[in-house]
Amino acid sequence: MRFRDVKEHHTRTVLPVAHITHGADAPHRSHRKPVVLFVFGEHARELITSEVGLWLARLLVDNSSAVYEWPELAAAFERAENNTSSSSSNSSSSSSGRDWPSVARSWVQEVLAKVEVQIVPIESLDSRRQVEEGKLCVRKTARNVDLNRNWPFAWQKEDPGDEQYGGTTPFSEPQSRLMKQVVDANGHRLLGYVNVHSGEWALYTPWDSKPAYGSGMPADMPELVATVGRICDCKVGPAGAVSGYLAFGSSMDFLYAAKRVPYPLTVEVYGGGGFGKLQPGEANKPLAQFDLIARPDREPAAPAPLPRRRALQQQQQQQRQHQQQATGRADTALAWQQQQQQQQPLDVAASQQQQAQQGGDADVILGLVGRAAKDQQACFNMFNPPSEAEYRRVVADWLASFLLMLRHMANGEGYKTVEVAVSQRRSSRG
Ligand SMILES: [Zn+2]
Repeated sequence: MRFRDVKEHHTRTVLPVAHITHGADAPHRSHRKPVVLFVFGEHARELITSEVGLWLARLLVDNSSAVYEWPELAAAFERAENNTSSSSSNSSSSSSGRDWPSVARSWVQEVLAKVEVQIVPIESLDSRRQVEEGKLCVRKTARNVDLNRNWPFAWQKEDPGDEQYGGTTPFSEPQSRLMKQVVDANGHRLLGYVNVHSGEWALYTPWDSKPAYGSGMPADMPELVATVGRICDCKVGPAGAVSGYLAFGSSMDFLYAAKRVPYPLTVEVYGGGGFGKLQPGEANKPLAQFDLIARPDREPAAPAPLPRRRALQQQQQQQRQHQQQATGRADTALAWQQQQQQQQPLDVAASQQQQAQQGGDADVILGLVGRAAKDQQACFNMFNPPSEAEYRRVVADWLASFLLMLRHMANGEGYKTVEVAVSQRRSSRG
C-alpha cells in the first residue's frame, strides 16, 4: 500500500489517498491496471463510513487480519450466495460449510492481481475535526458546502442555509477540486467509483439528478446490484428513482455522465432505525424495469442557467412535501434532517416563551444545553451504529459487499472496456 496526500497549497487543503494493489513496489506495472476509487467521510457526521474504509484497507493489505475470521463476515457472504433473509445473519455459523476466511483471502488476491484499489478515507477533514470536537450534526464542510453537490453535472444554485448547499459555483471547494485531480490522474483507468455515505441503508446507481436509470452502463450492473441487495436487505437501484429525492451536482452523476466510468455507485452503509431496509415481504424492483434516461454524448458545457432556479425551488418544495406525505418515503435521512431543521426554530421560540414566563435564565440555558445534547446524540445515532455488535455487523456487511463488488468489476463487462483503453494507451506509448 502506498499512501499519499494530494495537496492544494494556496488553500492548505489535503486529501489523503491510499493506493492498494499487487506489485505496488513495481509502479510501472501497477500503473497499467484499472482503478476502483472508494471515497469515505464526504459528510462529516457519517463517521462510520471512514471506519468501513479503514477496515476495507485492512482486509485488502493484511491477510492475517482477524476480520477474516469474524462470523458476521461469513454470514454476509452466506446471504449473498443463498438469497436468505437477513434474519439468518443472527446465526454465526456457516450453513453452506464453506471456509469463508480462505475464500475471502483468495478473492482479495484475485482482485488485487487485476485492479488497483484507491481509498480516500476522509474527504472532508476540516468538518471531521468539528465532529470530533462534539458537533455531531455537521454534514457540510467548515465553509458550509455540501461536497456531494459541488460537481458540475446538473449543478444548481441553492440557498446557503440549505443542508444541500452546493457552493457558489461547481468546484468552488478545494476538496472537490482535489477529488477531481485524483479522478483526472486516473483518467481512462477508472473502472469503478464508490461514494460511501450513511443515514440509511442503500446501494444507488445513476441517476442522482433524474428519477430514472441511466443508459450505457455494463449489462452486468443488475447482477452486481442484486448481489449487494441480498447482503444489505435494503433499497437498491437508481438513486433519483429509489430514494425519493433528486440530488444535483453529485460526484456520481459527474463520473457517470462526464467521465463515463463503467461502475459509478453510491452506497449508504447505515441508517438509524433501519432506514432503507426492506420491510417484510418487500422486494427491490429489478433495474431493467426502471425508466431509462440516456446519458448525453458529451458533458453539457455549463451548469444550468439561473432562470431555472425558481422552477427548481418549486420542484424541491414539492419533493419535500411529497416526502413528508408519503409514509413509505418519509423514512429517509433527508426527510429526517428537514424535519429537524423545521422543528428547531420552533423549539427555540418555545424556550424563549418559557423563559419569559418563568423569569429565570438558568433553567432555560440548562434546558437548551440538555436539548442540544439530545439533538447531538440523535444525530450520532441516525448516522452511526450505537453499539459494538451493530458496528461489527455494519463493517462486515459492507466489507463483504465491497469485496464482491470489486470481484464483479474485475470480471465484468466494464473491465474489458477499460482494459482495452489501458492496453491501447500502453501500445501507443510503445
Ligand atoms: Zn452523506
